[in-house]
Amino acid sequence: MTIQADARHQDQSWTTRGACVTMDPDCFFVQGAEQHAVKTTCLGCPVKTECLADALDNRIDFGVWGGMTERERRRLLRRHPEVGDWAAVLENYRRGQEEPGRGAEIA
Ligand code: SF4
Repeated sequence: MTIQADARHQDQSWTTRGACVTMDPDCFFVQGAEQHAVKTTCLGCPVKTECLADALDNRIDFGVWGGMTERERRRLLRRHPEVGDWAAVLENYRRGQEEPGRGAEIA
């Protein structure tokens, strides 16, 4: 079964609330060890889920988004080809973290 994105997930207002909002965006389009260094910015970002969902739903091929490198995102997409709406899946997962037993598992 494929789950498709809908208009609920088209809101891009989260981009103004990211922990990186004042940083040079080029910092997130680096390679190797530099990627892992910049990922630390994402750790406490209040819109990490939205950022990662946007990158996954739009199949963004480059850069660190939502705390994941492009390689990590490709691996996740390969593992879950059935998912068409990562925003919904990640929101459900986040709820499960906040309220155990409510959300879905991501393997
Ligand atoms: S998760 Fe990382 S890349 Fe995305 S908005 Fe937050 S700090 Fe920026």
